[in-house]
Amino acid sequence: MKLRKVTAASAAVLALAVAATACGSSNNDSGSSGGGKKIKIGIKYDQPGLGLKEPNGSFSGFDVDVATYVAGKLGYKPSQIEFVETKSADRENALARGDVKFIVASYSITDERKQKVDFAGPYFLAHQDLLVKANSKINKGTDLNGQNLCSVTGSTSAQNVQKTIAPKANLKENSGYSECVSSLQSGAVDALTTDDSILAGYAAQAQYKGQFKLLGLKLSNENYGIGVKKGDTTTLNKINDALKSMVSDGTWKKDVEKNFGPANYKYEPAPQIGQIVK
Ligand code: GLU
Repeated sequence: MKLRKVTAASAAVLALAVAATACGSSNNDSGSSGGGKKIKIGIKYDQPGLGLKEPNGSFSGFDVDVATYVAGKLGYKPSQIEFVETKSADRENALARGDVKFIVASYSITDERKQKVDFAGPYFLAHQDLLVKANSKINKGTDLNGQNLCSVTGSTSAQNVQKTIAPKANLKENSGYSECVSSLQSGAVDALTTDDSILAGYAAQAQYKGQFKLLGLKLSNENYGIGVKKGDTTTLNKINDALKSMVSDGTWKKDVEKNFGPANYKYEPAPQIGQIVK
């Protein structure tokens, strides 16, 4: 009888230990081997062709495919990935707080951001551009001066407009680009500026077909990197290795065509890891 009690107590202790281990394994502090662990990855939710949360809850876009491939090389199956929305202005803080392990979200590598986060890549080169109504008279950057223009808080696009492209534009900032697209459609703004990769995705959406034009101005070079917490060189190096193999095994090309082909977007060739186009 006494022995049985001890055994029951031991079993209870063991059960607690197992429960504690199970709890620990579901957190975000992931090691290199996936096992039963989850990994949290930051993406955009409202950028068709790059990072989009579909109405059924699934995710699509080139950034989603890059994130899934990289996570695979880090030892995580697609079912072990938890995508988290990281809006333009939230990205540095999300990494600093450890909300996500890494961010693949049209995230340009800049010297300013490198003070706060580290970047793997680049894995893609885009250019700032303008999206206007199909009948708009705006056809160059300086035409924006005195016009209502929409962009997103915390983006390089908003900064570039204010500093160089059109300092006298009446810039309205939103937290996401989809709000800007609605403003452009309603006529509340005359133009929307951000990366051509993002704008091409919106212009190709069925509900906007024929309404907008993308000017093709290449106003800047946007080198997309994968953001990691500052100092996390272990993850950074693994991501760079994953990106190299994504290009060399043909997956990069296949995924770029799949995601940007339908929008008729003329993408640049795959960049070399560590080489930023200024
Ligand atoms: N690539 C630019 C940036 O990182 C604009 C797109 C975005 O806001 O994500 O700021």
